[in-house]
Amino acid sequence: MKIYNNYHLNDLNSFKLPSIVDTIYYPETFNELKVLISDIPDVPILAGGTNVLLKEYYEEIVSLDLLPQNITRIYDYLCVDCNVKTQKLINYTIQNSLAGLEGLWGLPGTVGGAITMNAGSGEDCISNKIYSITTLTRDGKIKIYQKEDLKFNRRYSIIQDTNDIILQAVFNLPVKKINKEKIQQAKVWRQSFASFASAGGVFTNWHALKPYKENILEISNDYIKVWDKHINVLLNKGNARHDDVIHVINQIQEIVPEPLQLEIKIL
Ligand SMILES: Cc1cc2nc3c(=O)[nH]c(=O)nc-3n(C[C@H](O)[C@H](O)[C@H](O)COP(=O)(O)OP(=O)(O)OC[C@H]3O[C@@H](n4cnc5c(N)ncnc54)[C@H](O)[C@@H]3O)c2cc1C
Repeated sequence: MKIYNNYHLNDLNSFKLPSIVDTIYYPETFNELKVLISDIPDVPILAGGTNVLLKEYYEEIVSLDLLPQNITRIYDYLCVDCNVKTQKLINYTIQNSLAGLEGLWGLPGTVGGAITMNAGSGEDCISNKIYSITTLTRDGKIKIYQKEDLKFNRRYSIIQDTNDIILQAVFNLPVKKINKEKIQQAKVWRQSFASFASAGGVFTNWHALKPYKENILEISNDYIKVWDKHINVLLNKGNARHDDVIHVINQIQEIVPEPLQLEIKIL
């Protein structure tokens, strides 16, 4: 296991927010992770860092970035480690004619993060093809969840409440013609993504923002820009800090009368 002190997390979150941690742990095996969690059960978990809003300071953080990244195929089933990059999984399925994840082409982050967030695009969600997952509970037990136990909903899985750590997932992906049109559509959409730093969608029920688009766009300030192509995405102009993002989130919540659910995770 690698351990670093006084570590800057600026490059470990896609929002590029400044953040520093006293001690960051990088377990390299699932067993190291298990032993670590028995010592510090409530520690925040960072994976790809593409849907998180980091505070400016942490005492401890565990990064999953050095855990194994294996994909094992047994007939129509794929056993995938949590630290496999989601795009690597998608590439594997396309190369092996295992249909069902094409619509997620270009999704940043890891498989563990994607399952926790039930990441997706349109009708396509990672949960559509999940069979089961194996987790480490915060009291150090190994647990298996079948798909129906995970209570998937829009950008939600029960892991957000249990706080378990996903170790591996099994996907059920039959051999079937790959939907190339879907990949092409996803590529076009992803290319339109801004070059600014961001953390993907901010609110789960972002459709509620639409009638207030003009007012929301006006919120942009010296640090944060509301993206005009998708007002649910906030862009870091370069020097934004945690509080600047919270300020803009509060302003949006004041404009939109409907209660908004945060998608982005404040670690
Ligand atoms: C440019 C851009 C485009 C995006 N587009 C989309 C999109 O189209 N659709 C969409 O749904 N999302 C999108 N996102 C958001 C994000 O990419 C996804 O939610 C992604 O799946 C998060 O994975 P991650 O590994 O980065 O998780 P992180 O951001 O590191 O973590 C997210 C949450 O999951 C938890 N977590 C991570 N791994 C585990 C694990 N193994 N076990 C338990 N908990 C874990 C973390 O503690 C945190 O609470 C986008 C983000 C960006 C920056």
